[in-house]
Amino acid sequence: MRYVVGHKNPDTDSIASAIVLAYFLDCYPARLGDINPETEFVLRKFGVMEPELITSAKGKEIILVDHSEKSQSFDDLEEGKLIAVIDHHKVGLTTTEPILYYAKPVGSTATVIAELYFKDAIDLIGGKKKELKPDLAGLLLSAIISDTVLFKSPTTTELDKEMAKKLAEIAGISNIEEFGMEILKAKSVVGKLKPEEIINMDFKNFDFNGKKVGIGQVEVIDVSEVESKKDEIYKLLEEKLKNEGYDLIVFLITDIMKEGSEALVVGNKEMFEKAFNVKLEGNSVFLEGVMSRKKQVVPPLEKAYNE
Ligand code: MG
Ligand code: MG
Ligand code: MG
Repeated sequence: MRYVVGHKNPDTDSIASAIVLAYFLDCYPARLGDINPETEFVLRKFGVMEPELITSAKGKEIILVDHSEKSQSFDDLEEGKLIAVIDHHKVGLTTTEPILYYAKPVGSTATVIAELYFKDAIDLIGGKKKELKPDLAGLLLSAIISDTVLFKSPTTTELDKEMAKKLAEIAGISNIEEFGMEILKAKSVVGKLKPEEIINMDFKNFDFNGKKVGIGQVEVIDVSEVESKKDEIYKLLEEKLKNEGYDLIVFLITDIMKEGSEALVVGNKEMFEKAFNVKLEGNSVFLEGVMSRKKQVVPPLEKAYNE
């Protein structure tokens, strides 16, 4: 059986892209973890079922969306047959056999899929020419809004905005800004979540020069929702660091309104300070203008580890 699947700790882009791409490729969408509150809101809004949870790639044909880092994928990825990767991140794996690989430096994987659809080029990635239904257009639109934080993230491109407009038309969303705020609010339910859930909602592992590095992120409209939980989050991060063999864990509390992130840092603090050329005040520092893990946090950290 053939599955389209996004990364662990799935976000809206990973889920929406898996569902829509599976529709065009006539195979099954799947997920590698629990649905977060924002994605739950989006799926309910458009009346789409959540994809099946799978844990092993063994005996399956796999199409990865929204990631290609091994550390973010199946633990046993090599047990399956990797067919394709459709993504918007840096290349994270090498393969022993040729695969279909299509990635573009845009705001979301949903943007990549939408462009292929609107350019009538879905067949170039092995898809069938089918109509994009309003509910699926709504999912892709939501994923673009989520990944670009309503076009505020520095990862945002003109193509994201253009695709969002076209998708909104099909989905019957007349006011993208208003709809976007609804999504961001759904994302900001962190006030009700346990510190552990907040950490795991959007946590990604990386391998930087042989060292295990974890980078988590929570994006909030109202920072006070997390403020009271910071001490506990910090304690849990220290435990995670010790128990799971990390060299460094960075947890970003991104303030959507201020357009910056407070970074909580445990482990190799010297490496963090070197990467960002900052001095930590205790365990944290506010990084002005930093909203994107992919574009503003991963590259300097990886560079510092490789020096
Ligand atoms: Mg993602
Ligand atoms: Mg994405
Ligand atoms: Mg994200």
